Amino acid sequence: MELKSSHSSPVLTDPISINKSRLGIHPNLLSYAQSGGSLSSGKCMTIPRKKPGKLDDVRSNGWLDAMKSSSPPRKKLIKDFNIEVAADDIDISYCSWMIKYPSALKSFEKISKNAKNKKIAVFLDYDGTLSPIVDDPDRAFMPDTMRSAVRDVAKYFPTAIISGRSRDKVYELVGLTELYYAGSHGMDIMGPVSHTESDDHTNFTRSTDQQGKEVNLFQPAREFIPMIDEQVFKNLVENTKGIKGAIVENHKFCASVHYRNVEEKNWPTVAQCVHDILKDYPRLRLTHGRKVLEIRPVIDWNKGKAVEFLLESLGLSDRDDVLPIYIGDDKSDEDAFRVLREGSRGYGILVSSMPKESKAFYSLRDPSEVKKFLKALVRWKKFEEA
Ligand SMILES: [Mg+2]
Repeated sequence: MELKSSHSSPVLTDPISINKSRLGIHPNLLSYAQSGGSLSSGKCMTIPRKKPGKLDDVRSNGWLDAMKSSSPPRKKLIKDFNIEVAADDIDISYCSWMIKYPSALKSFEKISKNAKNKKIAVFLDYDGTLSPIVDDPDRAFMPDTMRSAVRDVAKYFPTAIISGRSRDKVYELVGLTELYYAGSHGMDIMGPVSHTESDDHTNFTRSTDQQGKEVNLFQPAREFIPMIDEQVFKNLVENTKGIKGAIVENHKFCASVHYRNVEEKNWPTVAQCVHDILKDYPRLRLTHGRKVLEIRPVIDWNKGKAVEFLLESLGLSDRDDVLPIYIGDDKSDEDAFRVLREGSRGYGILVSSMPKESKAFYSLRDPSEVKKFLKALVRWKKFEEA
């Protein structure tokens, strides 16, 4: 199956006038599918060296509210005869939330019934899905038991990791050669050669993976690498170095500032630093993750598009006998949930121990439940094949 042209030529937006509304608008409300343009503008290549502006910018534009709500406090549960009893109001709301987003474990029979005679494709986020959320993002290691569960899943189903981290970093953390990897929120995809279109497109590069196997690299935001790598990342490091606990990461096609370890009284300063840099780059935008501010290119590309791209690359698109399953925990995963919900193509599964609105169909409480679900998938498949 050949790729559609829309996948091979994602659209870069025209320069946008710099204003507070662009910077302050909530990411879910951002519309970034716009008409074409190129990255050649020299205006974007200047390196701003400015002192942080007034904190009023981030107070008035909603960044701080989004930062505070990006990762609600964890709650405690009481276990009693294997039934989780509501310990407080939050637990009561979680139980009622699960009516709308039932447990994928408890609904496994229904899921497997629908998967009968279909080819399942598995898409997994990394942080908070396969690994626990930890204070130091460099130490978000995946337990060996989880690695083994993912390896088993990949034996039976095409499996891809789609992460906000750089592709190299997420491969280093997962360490499984059996999978496909998409880094930088899907902006850096290493996929199979078969079924993919021409290798002469500017966003395609023929490459080899760690085993020397031929693969296709698809990087719809490759023109942004110099801007992110040589300017924005360096400026973020420079401007946040005085903020205790702030961690800046370079994901090649995007950059992020973690504020999990920053005292809350200093969050406005973190936000202002990012704001001051972002306002000089109209081709970049802000999104909020779990205790992290992320700066990304303004292109019509996200994890949902990455799922569609990988399905096409695998020859699994536009088929009634394919059931994609996507498991993720963060706002950026909602784009993938939405793609699967549209036309009831597959199942989005939200990993969350707190009630939150989602386009997912099902829920899992935490990575340990993700592992149980993956193992259940393998058990079911073995039983089907027996
Ligand atoms: Mg995540």
